[in-house]
This record gives sequence, structure tokens and C-alpha cells, in this order.
Amino acid sequence: MRGSTVAEPVFRRLTLLGIGLIGSSVARIARQRGDIATEIVVNARTRTTLDRVVELGFADRVELDPAAAVEGADCVMLCAPVGAFAGLAEKIAPHLKPGAVLTDVGSTKQSVIRDVGPLVPEGVHFVPAHPIAGTEHSGPDAGFVELFQGRWTLLTPPPGTDDTAVEKVAELWRRCGSQIARMSPQHHDRVLAIVSHLPHLIAFTICGTADDLADETRQEVVNFAASGFRDFTRIAASDPVMWRDIFLNNREALLEMLARFTEDAQAMARAVRWGDAAYIEDKVERGRKIRRSLIERKQA
Ligand code: NAP
Repeated sequence: MRGSTVAEPVFRRLTLLGIGLIGSSVARIARQRGDIATEIVVNARTRTTLDRVVELGFADRVELDPAAAVEGADCVMLCAPVGAFAGLAEKIAPHLKPGAVLTDVGSTKQSVIRDVGPLVPEGVHFVPAHPIAGTEHSGPDAGFVELFQGRWTLLTPPPGTDDTAVEKVAELWRRCGSQIARMSPQHHDRVLAIVSHLPHLIAFTICGTADDLADETRQEVVNFAASGFRDFTRIAASDPVMWRDIFLNNREALLEMLARFTEDAQAMARAVRWGDAAYIEDKVERGRKIRRSLIERKQA
């Protein structure tokens, strides 16, 4: 498909700092379409990952030094865990080209603006973004071209951000198959706390609880895992560093949602204790409604 599209590429040189599930999906799509960037430069923390990227063949150049990777780039996309962004931004800031767009894919947005914003040099446009798409797999082999198809990418540019830069980032994500929404970083972090961060916290916790059970019960959990528990284990298989960083960087919103959830779980416990069948049925029915509306909106 490369070269078969007529549209101008959105960027000339696109540099991806971090090349796991998300970065390598973007690289694969850019490679396949040919109208996202003319040149793809990839940086990772380790040589092993870069060697694998060379084997996979979706980069024009790989660089172990992030500063060298961003030289001359029109767009730099931070695709590492959010806890690594400040260190990366410090290393690359003096090497960013004037007029370049700096963006990211981090799952938290207030922390990214807090950590990266002050390091962005004059004349570089900072457009924070978050594609709401993922799997429990990580690393450069995990990416695939359909990942963002029909999913949302949320943009949280600070007030006064250059409109052309925002539009270019939006266009990059549209060409990746995404729908675009714009919101404040505060709102983003609250929404993601409930739709993603809290469910992961619950999944990690429930797997921990099962693992703490007495030996023979634990074995039965593995042998007879019903779909409910199995679904939690899929979510809990996600990368520990990425999730550590997300929890620590969306602390306030996550704790607020966890407090609300705990209250609701207590109310459910009370209904179970006192045999309040109507309460239990109502909660299950609300769950079913949410599932149905996800299916209708093709987000299931
Ligand atoms: P991943 O598959 O675990 O890959 C992470 C990449 O970042 C690897 O290339 C790794 O290099 C590099 N890296 C790790 N630590 C680093 C450090 N300290 N400094 C520089 N580079 C480092 O991650 P991912 O799932 O693609 O997630 C990347 C970002 O996307 C995260 O910010 C995450 O919050 C966000 N996100 C993830 C999902 C999801 O479901 N996975 C969805 C939306 C957004 P090495 O391989 O050399 O270690």
C-alpha cells in the first residue's frame, strides 16, 4: 500500500521515543499507509529492542540516543511509560527543531503537562494526546495496524496551543483510524480513572486476592476459572511498569473513583447480607445496559 495514496504526508520525519504496543502500531500504520510520515526514526531504552525493530522492518532508522533520534524531526511522539517522560523531555529539549510538534500517547494527561510542559522550548508545539486503544501485550512485536481503528484519541492541548500543530496531530490519528475528541487534561484524567485505571486496579487486586488463597483453593481457581475471573486475568497481564506509572501519575482522580467504588461495593455487600434482591437485580441490570450501549457504539 506504501506510495499508493495521493495525500501529502502529515510529517516529513516522525520520531517515536519508545516502541512498544502503541509506538510500534503507529510505526506499522505509518509504514503501510505512507501518508503519515516520509521517514520513521525509532528510539528505545535498550539495544535489544532496537535490534528487534530492525528485524521487523518498520523504521527507516533506529537510534539508542534520544537526542540524536529527535534531530531534524518534524514530529516527536513520546511512546514510553509516563514516568519516563520527564527524563526523556530533558534529554531531547535542546535538540528539538524550531516549529517541530512534540506529542505523546501517555495514559495520564495532567502529569504529562506538568512534567513535560515546562521543558518544551520556545517555538516547539506541545500537543498531548492519548489513543484509547490497547491490549495486555507489550513490546515491538505487540503492535498491529488495526489497533486504533474506530477507537477514540483524546487531545488535551493547553490553552493557546498552535491550531495547525493540533490539527496535524489530529490528522495523524485520523489516518491511524481514530476518531478525535478534545478535552481538558483534568477531565481526561477523571474519565480515564473510571473507564480504565480503576478497572485495572480492581483486576490486579482480585488476582492478588486469588493468589493469596490457601494452596489447594488457589489451584482450583486456576483449574476452574470461570469467565469472570478469566477476564480479570487478561487485564491483569498488562505491563507492571506502565501501570505503576499510570497509578502514581493519576493519583487524585484514581483515589477519588476508588473511594466511590468502595462505597458502592459496601452498599452491594449490605444488599447481599440483608437479602435485598431488588437492589442486586437493579445493579446487574445497569451493568447489562452499559454493555449494550458499548456494543451499539462499536466500542465493545
Ligand atoms: P510497552 O509496550 O511497554 O513499550 C514501552 C516502550 O518504552 C519500549 O520501547 C521501552 O524500551 C520504552 N521505555 C521503557 N522505559 C523507558 C525509559 N525509562 N526511558 C525510555 N524508554 C523507555 O508500552 P506501551 O503499551 O506501548 O505504552 C506506551 C505508552 O502508551 C505509555 O505511556 C502508556 O501509558 C500509553 N498507552 C498504553 C496503552 C496500552 O494499552 N498499552 C494504551 C494507550 C496508551 P525497551 O523495550 O528498550 O525497554
